[in-house]
Amino acid sequence: MDDVQLRVRFAPSPTGGLHLGGVRTVLYNYLFAKQQRGKFIVRIEDTDQRRFVKGAEEYIFECLDWCGLSADESVQNGGPHGPYRQSERKEIYRAYALKLVENGHAYYAFDTPEALEEMREKLKAKGSESLMYDHHVRSEMKNSLSLSPEETQSLLKENIPYVIRIKANPGNTIILNDVIRGEIKFDSGNVDDKVLLKADGMPTYHLAVVVDDYLMKITHAFRGEEWLPSAPVHVMLWQYLFGLDAMPAWAHLPLILKPDGHGKLSKRDGDRLGFPVYAMDWKDPFSGEITKGFKELGFLPEAFLNLLAVLGWNDGSEQEIFSLEELIKKFSLERVHHAGAKFDYEKARWFNHEWIKKLPAKDLLPRVKPFMDIPNVEDFTDDYILSAIGMVKDRCTLLTDFNQQLGFLFHSPEKIDVGAINPKWNEIKNTFFLEFCQAIEEENISGEKMEEIFKRFCSNKNIKPGEVLLPLRIMLVGGKYGPGVFDIAGMIGSIETRNRILHTLQLITHE
Ligand code: GLU
Repeated sequence: MDDVQLRVRFAPSPTGGLHLGGVRTVLYNYLFAKQQRGKFIVRIEDTDQRRFVKGAEEYIFECLDWCGLSADESVQNGGPHGPYRQSERKEIYRAYALKLVENGHAYYAFDTPEALEEMREKLKAKGSESLMYDHHVRSEMKNSLSLSPEETQSLLKENIPYVIRIKANPGNTIILNDVIRGEIKFDSGNVDDKVLLKADGMPTYHLAVVVDDYLMKITHAFRGEEWLPSAPVHVMLWQYLFGLDAMPAWAHLPLILKPDGHGKLSKRDGDRLGFPVYAMDWKDPFSGEITKGFKELGFLPEAFLNLLAVLGWNDGSEQEIFSLEELIKKFSLERVHHAGAKFDYEKARWFNHEWIKKLPAKDLLPRVKPFMDIPNVEDFTDDYILSAIGMVKDRCTLLTDFNQQLGFLFHSPEKIDVGAINPKWNEIKNTFFLEFCQAIEEENISGEKMEEIFKRFCSNKNIKPGEVLLPLRIMLVGGKYGPGVFDIAGMIGSIETRNRILHTLQLITHE
């Protein structure tokens, strides 16, 4: 296999919002491909027309763009093995389904929905554990195994709707060597005769995934653990169609679990517990309901990828913060965990905070701008905004936090918490601030200079700086937060500093 190029794929069905588990699958595929100089393919699995949702495909690509995980081959970028949208490959699958029928591994089934319902009712009445269409019941149903070849041919000629089912025979052990989980054995007697080609001529996922992984020369297939129950059918199809030697190496990735560890994290958990589960905002085209995504809530893609990378993998050290470049170097399938990883939203926020601290202000500028709701922002230069971001970024957990943390550097505070000043106010402080204002009346007095004057006044008047620093902060910012007071004063300038002090002095009341 040495000269075979490594090829991996992400194969989403465009049915709605992109779950963070899906993005993690993309990420692991991407890391592996980049590390091994392979190719990363995105294939759209849209053969189930009932589940198809308009806009979902474009949305998936927008999410990947936001994350910076672009595909080497895809619906959008093309490639030598296209089309990359399964609904455009209908005829290809049909030929393989017919080949399976010819070789005795699949058969036509003409059962109506009513007949299938009746079959299930009968099985239920018998107390049967399984209600599946399988080797137990197939001889009682209307299919090319129970009918004579002539009867089958005449039904086909009459255009009676049919599906093609796999013939899953009992008595075999199906073995899957999973890169993460090792050898997994399935009893073929438990596998039902899954539909491969539907009455509308479309393949089911099972047939399409195997055919496309073969034709697209996929060497490694990573997907969520929830697909493990489908694996035996896929292994059978590989065996019947292409031989097991051609089969990609499989890796079923651990689930991302609810915060309490009980079951797979779902969109409903996010709604219930108040955190995002989708990469980006998703608007349901039927109900119009918008589900919030990580992007719009103010996460950086760097942080989002970092937190996903370590939900199910670590490099064996205590390191938690990884850039994409580092992940490409360090990622290894051997270190992907077997057990599911609990999602912890507070920890997710922590990652974002760390990344906001880590990235230079100039990298943050274009990401912060869309979140800034500052009406007069055009009056300020990018240099000013850059310094403002640099000043407050360590205090921001989400990009949405910048709005509050920066606002006072662009306009005087809308509300001033004088209630926090009043109780300890007195004439001495009043005079102190009036005199300080006189001393900084000129334009262009630097922050350092204002600090020096302020401290000198304190010592001359025997006032502890702490007693007047908090009021000054509230006067400039509106509340008890923000970066260094004189950094703020320096940014807004001495004239504005003076105006804000004088304005607040009018609001202060004291006994
Ligand atoms: N189309 C499947 C999905 O929606 C892909 C499963 C696989 O990767 O085999 O997740």
